[in-house]
Amino acid sequence: MIVRKVNAKSIITKSNIPGIDFVINPYIGCQHACIYCYAEFMKRFTGHVGDSWGEFLDVKHCNWDKIRPEKYNGKTLLFSSVTDPYTPLEVKYENTRSVLEKLIGTKASVQILTKSDLVVRDLDLFKQFDDIQVGISINSLNEEFVRVIEPRASKPLDRLKSLRTISKEGVPTYVFVSPIFPKISDWQSIIDAALPITDDFRFENLNFRRHNVSRIMDLVASKHPELSEFFTQIMRHPSMWDEIEEDIEAYCSLRKIRCKIEFHHGGFSKTK
Ligand code: SF4
Repeated sequence: MIVRKVNAKSIITKSNIPGIDFVINPYIGCQHACIYCYAEFMKRFTGHVGDSWGEFLDVKHCNWDKIRPEKYNGKTLLFSSVTDPYTPLEVKYENTRSVLEKLIGTKASVQILTKSDLVVRDLDLFKQFDDIQVGISINSLNEEFVRVIEPRASKPLDRLKSLRTISKEGVPTYVFVSPIFPKISDWQSIIDAALPITDDFRFENLNFRRHNVSRIMDLVASKHPELSEFFTQIMRHPSMWDEIEEDIEAYCSLRKIRCKIEFHHGGFSKTK
């Protein structure tokens, strides 16, 4: 793992994500090394061309005292978008915790999204925000599958356990079922397992990108060869996701669950 410290002018930056005004990425790179990660494009802009995604981490350093919580009143802030705020070395560097500490008192709507059970460490801070939601992202309960696609993220049940602890303390939580691998991700089981914790579920499909297609296809060929042709077809014909969307909506309606679909359909998202 290549770790270096880099100076950053600011750690809170304007966002193009629909519904999100600012994103907070305390690191460049992400140790979780998910094989489908779309954020790998960051290598081109950060001096990491040639480095393997997941094998480097730039620890941003900036003047935390410059963060003014009131500047973000009425805005929506998301931790993170191109890293995981609780990447394993957050234990040592505590960049995410430092930013959270400085944001206390803001009237912003703050969202946390992670694949790490480390998130529970900051429960004491979450409880001091007026408007915060803490979410975990999870796409399968199958540990063996998850270990291959998200090698250094926490085990799915450990993520849920942390979320349960956070929820029990009165902090609003959500589950982001993402990315859905068609015919592999057991999204119904995830809903059933998480329903005692939260009724706020969001869903996103697998996003095929030039840099991740071969990794995804190799994985399917080795673990689920019977689905190789199906994956080729759904990559070419994004409208095939419609049926999965409808299944999710029908199941959520049946269970009376808050459901937000954020599927990409050939490069755009028709968020509902
Ligand atoms: S946790 Fe998120 S940012 Fe990190 S490698 Fe996985 S998908 Fe990418």
